[in-house]
Amino acid sequence: MKINKKDSFIEPDEALRVLVLQSALDLVDQGISLVDEQLRLVAWNDAFLKLLDFPLEMAHIGADFKSFIRFNAQRGEFGPGQADELVDAWIGNIAHLASRDIEHVRPNGRILSIKGFKVPQYGYITLYSDITEQKLREKEILNRNAELEARAEAKAQELLMAHQRNEARIRLITDSIPALVAYFGNDRQYHYVNRGYQDWFGVDPANPSTINARKFLGTTTYERIRPYIMQALQGQAVTFEYELMTLHQGERIARTSLIPEVGEGGSFLGCFELTFDITDERLAQSRLLRAQKMEALGQLTGGLAHDFNNILTVIQGNLLNLADQPDLLRYEEEYVRPAVEAVQRGADLIRGLLNFSRKQPLKSDIEDLKRCIRSTAQWMRSALPDSLVIEVEYPESPLYINIDANQFRDALLNIALNARDATDGKGTLSIRCTSSRIDSEGAKSLRVKEGLYAVISLEDDGCGMDAETLSRVFEPFFTTKNATRGTGLGMSMVYGFIQQSEGAIDLRSTPGVGTTVTMMFPLIDHKPSALHPPEPIPKLELPRRTDRLGLALLIEDDASIRQWLRRELVNFGYAVIEAENGEEGIMLLENMKNIQLILSDVVMPGNYDGIDVINKSRQRHPGTRTILMSGYVPKANIPADVPLLQKPFTREELFKLLEKTA
Ligand code: ADP
Ligand code: MG
Repeated sequence: MKINKKDSFIEPDEALRVLVLQSALDLVDQGISLVDEQLRLVAWNDAFLKLLDFPLEMAHIGADFKSFIRFNAQRGEFGPGQADELVDAWIGNIAHLASRDIEHVRPNGRILSIKGFKVPQYGYITLYSDITEQKLREKEILNRNAELEARAEAKAQELLMAHQRNEARIRLITDSIPALVAYFGNDRQYHYVNRGYQDWFGVDPANPSTINARKFLGTTTYERIRPYIMQALQGQAVTFEYELMTLHQGERIARTSLIPEVGEGGSFLGCFELTFDITDERLAQSRLLRAQKMEALGQLTGGLAHDFNNILTVIQGNLLNLADQPDLLRYEEEYVRPAVEAVQRGADLIRGLLNFSRKQPLKSDIEDLKRCIRSTAQWMRSALPDSLVIEVEYPESPLYINIDANQFRDALLNIALNARDATDGKGTLSIRCTSSRIDSEGAKSLRVKEGLYAVISLEDDGCGMDAETLSRVFEPFFTTKNATRGTGLGMSMVYGFIQQSEGAIDLRSTPGVGTTVTMMFPLIDHKPSALHPPEPIPKLELPRRTDRLGLALLIEDDASIRQWLRRELVNFGYAVIEAENGEEGIMLLENMKNIQLILSDVVMPGNYDGIDVINKSRQRHPGTRTILMSGYVPKANIPADVPLLQKPFTREELFKLLEKTA
C-alpha cells in the first residue's frame, strides 16, 4: 500500500509494518490496486503503475479511480470511441468485473490479465499480471498443435486417399486379370469379389457380404467342392477343378485355388479365392491328345493299308485275268464277279483307312465352297430319307478354298449319314457356311495357321454323344452302331481329309440335344480364273492293242504285282523288262536303249525310289513316257506332269492311262 508516511492515523509501529509491506508489494511483478466502495484509490504498488503506464503523480490515496480509467480511455487504451462513454461503460462494469477475470490487450501489444475480487464492506482489489509471454507461448503451442493437427489430418487424408487409390488399383488389377478373385473371412462371408463374379454369376461386387457361394454355384456344384472348402477352413491350401454353370457362357471348367490366411496362433482369419477358366486350356489339351493319338493310329493304319493294297492289287489283277480266260467264262458270274466285288469293297475300306492316315493323295483344286455345297446338298437329298429335313444356308459371296471336291462331298455325306442315324432319319440337319478369322490363340488350339477360314457347320438334333464317344469319334473302326450299319470309318475319313487339306475340325455334342460338326478350310483370297467341275468317271471300253509298242520297264518290289502288271503290259502291246527296285531300274535304264515306257512303283526298298528313277530317265531318255503307281504318296512329292496310278487300280484304269500316254 502506498502509504503517505505523514498519515497520522497510523500508529508508529503500525506505520513501519505498513512501510515494510509496501516495499514487499513493490517487489512483486503483479500490479495491485485497492479501491474503496466509492472507487477511491486506497493502495497500489509500483507494478500497477508500470504495467498500465500511469504517471506516478496520478496515484495518491483517495485518488478517484475513474481518473485512471478516463486517462486510459483518452489515450485510446480501450480502442476508438467517446472517452466519457467508455469510462461509464468501464465503471459500470467494475462491480460486475469483480470476482471475474478479463484479458486486456494494451495498444503496445502487451496482454494483461486483470482479476477483480470484491472485498466485503470495503471495496475492490484488482490484480494485474503481464501474461504476454505466457499468451505467446500458449498461442505458439496452440499454433503448433493446430499445425500438428492439420498435419495429422493431412497425413490421415493422404493415407485414406492412398488406401482408396490402392483399393481402386487392386480392383482395377483384379478386374482386368482373366480370373475370379475373392476373399472371404472367418465369418464365411465374402469381403471382396472382383468383376469376374459379376460376369459369371451376375452377383454385385459392391455388396460382397450378400454373395453366397451355394447360391451362385447351385447346390449340386457346391456340394461337389465342399470338401475342399472344408480343408481350406482348416488352414490348408487347396486347388481343385470342376465344372460349373455360368450365367451367359454356359458350362465352363474352372480351376480354383483356396489360400487360407492364418493368424499368429494358427487361427483361420480368412481365405483368398482364385479361380481360372480352364475350358479352352482343356479343349486345347484334348485336341493335342487327339492329334497325337490320331497320328499314331494314322501311322499304324497307313502301314497296314499299304500292305493290304498290294495284296488287293494282286488279287484283283489275277481275278481280272481269270475273267478273261474264254474257257473259264462260265465261272465268271458265280465266282469271279463276287470275288472282284469283294476286292472292290476291300479297296473302299483301304481307301477309307488311307484317307484317315493322310496317305491318300488328294486332288486339290480351287473350288467355290458355295457351289460345292449346293451340288452336294442336291446329291445328299437323294441319298437321305425325306423325313430328314435338310436346311442349307449359303454364304452371300463365293468362298474359295483349295480342296479335293470329291473328298469334300464324301466328308459332307458321311457327316449327314451320321446325322440321319442320330435322328433315326426324322430330325433336322442344318448346314451353315460362313467365313471367319482364326486368331493366333484359336490357331494354336486348333493346330492350324492363323488367318481367314471358310467355316462349314453341320448341326443335327439327334441323340448326341457322351464324353467317351466324343473322344473316340475319329478313331478308325470306332462305331457305336451295329455291324450292318457302321464301319467306324466315316469320321476318321473326314478327319484325315481335313488334316490333309490344312483345315480344322471341331465337334460339339450334348447327349439328347444334338451334335454340331464344324469344318474350317483356309480361304484363298483371289478369285481363280476358271473353276473345274468335278470330272465324271467315264465308263471304259477297253482297247486291245495288237501292235507292238516297244519296250516297257516295269519296276515294282512286290513280285505278284509285278507278275500281273507284266501280263497287262504285254496284253496292251509292250515288251516288258522288269526290275525289283529303284537301283535295278536305274541300272537297266543306263544299259538299255529304246525304253518307251517306265511304269514304276514309288516306294521301294533301297536307296532310290520311283521318283529318282523318273528323274534319271529324264536326263538320259527325255522322250520316255513315265507312269508312277503308289498306294500312299502325298501328291506334292510327285512331279506334276507324271501321271500317278492309285493302288489298287484296275486293268481298265491302267489301260486308260496307257492309252493317254501312248
Ligand atoms: P459309323 O457311322 O460307321 O459308326 P463314324 O466314324 O461315322 O462311324 O462315327 C463314329 C461314331 O461316332 C458313331 O458310331 C456314333 O457313335 C458317333 N457319331 C458320329 N456322328 C454322330 C452324330 N451326328 N450324332 C451322334 N453320334 C455320332
Ligand atoms: Mg458314319
